[in-house]
This record gives sequence, structure tokens and C-alpha cells, in this order.
Amino acid sequence: MFRLPVSKIDDLFGTIASSRTLYLPVDGNDGRAKYDKWSEGTKMSDKLNTVRSAKSFFFPQTTNICDFNVNGANVEVVDIREESEDFVVFGVRACDARSFTILDKVFLAEPVDSYYATRREHGTVVTMACSEPEENCFCNVFGIDAAAPEGDATCWIADGYLYITSNNEKGEKFVESISALLEETDDSAVKAQQETIHGIVEKLPFGKVSTDHFRKNTLLEIFNSEKWEKLSESCLGCGTCTFVCPTCQCYDIKDFDTGHGIKRYRTWDSCMYADFTKMAHGNSRNAQMQRFRQRFMHKLVYFPDNNNGEFGCVGCGRCLSRCPISMNIIKVIKEFGEE
Ligand code: SF4
Ligand code: SF4
Repeated sequence: MFRLPVSKIDDLFGTIASSRTLYLPVDGNDGRAKYDKWSEGTKMSDKLNTVRSAKSFFFPQTTNICDFNVNGANVEVVDIREESEDFVVFGVRACDARSFTILDKVFLAEPVDSYYATRREHGTVVTMACSEPEENCFCNVFGIDAAAPEGDATCWIADGYLYITSNNEKGEKFVESISALLEETDDSAVKAQQETIHGIVEKLPFGKVSTDHFRKNTLLEIFNSEKWEKLSESCLGCGTCTFVCPTCQCYDIKDFDTGHGIKRYRTWDSCMYADFTKMAHGNSRNAQMQRFRQRFMHKLVYFPDNNNGEFGCVGCGRCLSRCPISMNIIKVIKEFGEE
């Protein structure tokens, strides 16, 4: 375990940014936290979490995946991929850190998504323990420890110091790169803070929500439940929940004619949209109930069924704060839990 005084945090950021691009949470003009590139004078936000998750560092909202030069009947595919630069994402919370594990299972499974894999390879994730988890947080329901986030290296801020430890080889290299600023120390201050965090988590309103129903019952039983009608009846299909969600990974591929050629883009999409996966014959999910059911079945049934029981939600609480009709995954879990 290493530490440096919080008063030297700007030196830390300057050292990191001298060799790589550094991104960290900052307060936006609307007062809400968002990730931004660090430059001299940038201050890290002390808010618990960013409005949008950290997934866009590895799975951006829009990616130009290739170009086509079209000349009459001749079409040339242009590989526009460039070697990515190394970057550090600093201050990632425990929920978002676990979301990368979930996204890895999707994008790094065969066939490997080379765009995602390259970004994962070049990105170092430095997490920050949540000193004060908030009422919408329920990461512990999915076995995530807000006091000991995953990532390549983990930080805690306690007693005027920033504590840091590495979790893997990439994290060791990161800590080595800033070692001139660090002093070695024991973990007593971190342990004390972890105890406090666990005490807060213990009292969170959704911390004890049970997901047992989704383990005990069959896929078809849950799929055919009448509860989906009632749960989905007010859903606007706006897709906000999917866009703020760190684990949602649906995308569409679109071609754009620039007048000089074609650019092919990958863009985030939402299974809540009426035209999602619409094909020539129509849409396999015609009603909002079906689309709504798909989103939650994926996170609570299909994904765990295919990934050794790991749920596709990390309890970040973003859908709880952002849905315009106050519908969210906690309401779905509770509705089924009451059966
Ligand atoms: S659940 Fe809420 S946020 Fe999600 S699509 Fe429906 S209305 Fe929008
Ligand atoms: S479903 Fe909601 S709580 Fe779960 S990871 Fe997505 S946004 Fe966060």
C-alpha cells in the first residue's frame, strides 16, 4: 500500500498525464459529474458517480469502424483503425469497474471485438472506493464491494491522504510510473474506512433486495409472467435507462454517405426502441411490454444463465435516478421477489 497527501493530487495528475491521456470525473456546468480529459487546473469531482458511466472509454457511443471508397461497381474497404494511445481512467467507482468484467464477457468472447479489445489493452482503470454510498446504490446485491473496487489499481481517500494499491500487472506498472510521488505505508487507514463504508452499505434501502426468484424459477415461468404487463404499462420507450447503464451493450451499424465515400459507424442502440433490430419482415418485439421484458430478462435471466450466474446489473442506481417515469430494475426485482 502506498500513499500521497491529497494536497499533492495535482502533481499526481500531472505526472500521469505526462505520459498518457488522463480522464477523470469533473463537475460539468450543470453541476453533475462527467468524465473529462485532464489538463492543468482540472479538479476532480467529489460526487459519488458520473451521470453517464465509464463504459464509453471502451465502448464509445459512436465508433467509425471502417470506410468504403465507391467507384462505380468497385467498392474498396478502407481499414481506418489506428493504433490507440495509452490512457488512464481515474476515479472509476466499484459498480462501473465491475461493468467492464461484464462487457469483457460480451466483447472479448469469440469472435473478439477488436475495437473494444484494443481500447481495453491501452486503458488502465484506476478505481476509487465510495466513501459514502448513496441511497440509490445497491452494488452489494451483486457481490460488489464499494469499499474495495476492482480495476487495475484501487484508491481510497482517507485522513488527508490518497492511498493506492495495484491489483494486477498493469496496475503495478501504473503505480511504478507514479512512485516518485508515493511513500509506502500500512493499510490501517484504509481498513478503518472500509469498515465505515460497510456500515453505510448495510443500511442502504435497496441493499437487501433479493434476486433469489431469478435463480429459483425457470426462464419460461418468468418470461410468461403476467407481471410484465403492469410493470411496463407506463414505459415511454425513451431508452434513457439503457444509455446511462454501464452494462447495456446493444448497438446498431449505420452507413453514412459523405458524398465522397461511405463511412460505417457503430452507434449505441436500445432494446427499448420500437425499431430495434427491425428487419424487412418487421419486428420480433412489437409491443413495449415485449421490449421492456427483454431488457430485464437479459439482465436478470439470460445473461446469468449464460455466464455462470453473473447478473447483467451492477447496482449503480443510474436507472433509478434517470427514468422519467421512475421505473427501474429494483422495482422489477421486487415485483418478482414478492411472488
Ligand atoms: S424504463 Fe424508463 S428510462 Fe427506460 S425506456 Fe422506459 S421510460 Fe425510458
Ligand atoms: S440496470 Fe440500472 S442499476 Fe443496473 S447497472 Fe444498469 S443502470 Fe445500473
